Amino acid sequence: MLQSQLFTKTQKDISADETSAGTQLLLRAGFIDKAAAGVYTILPLGFLALQKIERIVAAAMDGLGAQRVAMPSLVPKKNWEATGRWAGLDVLYKVKGKGGEEYGLGATLEEIVTPVAQKFSFSYKDFPFAIYQIQTKFRDELRAKSGLLRGREFLMKDLYSFHVDQKDCDDYYERVKEAYFEIFKAAGLAPITFLTLADGGTFSKFSHEFQTVTAAGEDIVYHCGNCGFAVNKEIKEDYPKCPECGSADFDEKKAIEVGNIFKLGTKYSAAFGFEASGADGGKLPVLMCCYGIGLTRLLGTVAETSRDENGIIWPQAIAPFEIHLIELEAKDGEANREIKKNAQKIYSDLQKKNISVLYDDRPGKSAGEKFKDADLLGMPRRLVISQKTLEQKGVEIKKRGEKETKLAGLDKICDYNFQDR
Ligand code: ATP
Ligand code: MG
Repeated sequence: MLQSQLFTKTQKDISADETSAGTQLLLRAGFIDKAAAGVYTILPLGFLALQKIERIVAAAMDGLGAQRVAMPSLVPKKNWEATGRWAGLDVLYKVKGKGGEEYGLGATLEEIVTPVAQKFSFSYKDFPFAIYQIQTKFRDELRAKSGLLRGREFLMKDLYSFHVDQKDCDDYYERVKEAYFEIFKAAGLAPITFLTLADGGTFSKFSHEFQTVTAAGEDIVYHCGNCGFAVNKEIKEDYPKCPECGSADFDEKKAIEVGNIFKLGTKYSAAFGFEASGADGGKLPVLMCCYGIGLTRLLGTVAETSRDENGIIWPQAIAPFEIHLIELEAKDGEANREIKKNAQKIYSDLQKKNISVLYDDRPGKSAGEKFKDADLLGMPRRLVISQKTLEQKGVEIKKRGEKETKLAGLDKICDYNFQDR
């Protein structure tokens, strides 16, 4: 993409009421715009990063054999009443139509997915199966001061699995757990993201959260120095020792919940009278699990945890562009034409190799301004082409977050091994 065409620009001043440093950077870099507390527009560069996250998550869900759907956000009141959540879910936004009909805006979708699954599944032979979607959720969050980390409107992947056999349910749950680790690894969060034991509700002893350690986190987790698991605050109160290994060697850390997996048992299936007929003709209870990942929260978490004083440092897998190609203007017209010609060629050659490039072709910007913007935007690699580099028939390469620069030959740049690509 040509940077001169990008309608957004970097900004110096943003409102001071953002408490998350990552969200501040996303605002300054023009990845997102704030419409109200907890409500954001995702701008083109932010959208590209979010799309990459979405693809990673969707591929993982597809790998689990889950089938993608798109559920509504207008969830009829009667569905919420069936589960007791019209009155019981305090974050529910309620809206009324002109005809008097009422809806709760989708905050989580058990109230839709359960009756949908029920319409198509009657016998034990119809199980197991899993359904997922990636959809905007609405929650009337009291505190929405942490930017993308806690939105009132945010993008979530929600997966629901349906089983008639406890072992099958437990096995699938473990498979999803593994897939979640792979997702957080791809997003560059693996070293600071811990599987955390949390309260399991009525049907299971524990649920599991994936907590990313960061000072901006609103949760407190206790990381077990012995086994590497973590427990959340409520569990710590119930179990003074690690329920996993028995150690009391806990380290208290602030963290943000990027994912949550939960065995629901028959909580929602029973509310809708959803059962299956068994091999012997009797009735079997339908067991459900739900699994969430906040995609916009994940975007905010990466910006929060992968940055320096100058801007964001995107992991390769979710960077909006892999390369930020920068041409520096020379004073002399002839030299300038030569710089442009070479920059355009590199731009097109790299794209032919399926390497995504943001090309800073903006006229009248100083080297300082361009470098500052490149650091703020945070693409993994910066390529600079200038009169100085052309004199050496080369292009300067710098990895974001490192100081060292290298010179690669003009004719070699397209075969350059941009490591960890
Ligand atoms: P929290 O405890 O942070 O309020 P939660 O436990 O209510 O979250 P879940 O219902 O488990 O959240 O939702 C699944 C996932 O959706 C969470 O793990 C998180 O990644 C994301 N999520 C939840 N609430 C928000 C929010 N307000 N803004 C952004 N992402 C969210
Ligand atoms: Mg949760």
